[in-house]
Amino acid sequence: MSLNSKATLFLVATPIGNLSEVSQRTLDVLNSVPVIACEDTRNTLKLLTHFDIHTKMIAYHNFNEEGSSEGILKLLEEGNDVALVSDAGYPLISDPGYTLVEKVIAAGYDIVTVSGPNAALNALVASGLETNHYLFYGFLNAKQSQARKELEELRTFPYTLIFYEAPHRIEKTLRLMHEVLGDRKACLARELTKIHEQYYRGNLSELMELKDLKGEMVVLVEGYREEEKEIDINELLAEVDTLIKKGEKAKDAAGTVADRYGFSKNKLYNFYLKKDK
Ligand code: SAM
Repeated sequence: MSLNSKATLFLVATPIGNLSEVSQRTLDVLNSVPVIACEDTRNTLKLLTHFDIHTKMIAYHNFNEEGSSEGILKLLEEGNDVALVSDAGYPLISDPGYTLVEKVIAAGYDIVTVSGPNAALNALVASGLETNHYLFYGFLNAKQSQARKELEELRTFPYTLIFYEAPHRIEKTLRLMHEVLGDRKACLARELTKIHEQYYRGNLSELMELKDLKGEMVVLVEGYREEEKEIDINELLAEVDTLIKKGEKAKDAAGTVADRYGFSKNKLYNFYLKKDK
């Protein structure tokens, strides 16, 4: 089933929850290729069983992309088309496959993408944040110190930022985003295409209040705004002073002013503490 005489690697997107999002073309390709390379054969078996597909599966391992790619190249060399799938959505998007694609391009075989669902795009279009320009970041590093550095690098990027995150890290990650990026507009999209699909839209400080977030989730954060560049820290500190004179505690005053300008509360409070030193 190659487009040319050469064998083809099909990159096939699969559902991110709702199985009825499978297209006819996806089913046709998965039915007609001799081999499907999967991230986890147990997960793909569920999909294939649901659609009564009996194609042979092989594992394409994230932890051994080099080794797994060699096996697939051999299949292509022998004239077999191969479909690569991940557990959900597009292969290669926060999922294995990049090494394979590099090698398949270098070896001169055809590559065809079979479209389907993707969590980042589903979330983006319904987020209410800017969609014309955006940056898909995927997962931040699991180590907080590293994640902080990554966010610092993204801080002045002027377009919507899209992140994937696991439920056991979400609370920490939202706090870190708030600290580094300031109290920007954001959206948390969970369980997309499933029964309990939900969107939480608000500032990062509001999303931080959400408790017991479960399931699969995408976090989107508004990009850096021009106004942030023009913030004069001395003006902000003067407003903090005014509130303190009216009786607010320094920390609360810094929080109020920071919120007003979409600035980081901790940063402003730290500036306040250091201002007369
Ligand atoms: N390849 C996938 C894609 O194209 O979207 C992404 C796979 S990545 C390993 C898994 C992460 O994607 C999850 O931790 C979550 O952040 C996001 N994700 C996947 N399915 C989702 C869904 N149904 N709802 C919300 N987020 C989802």
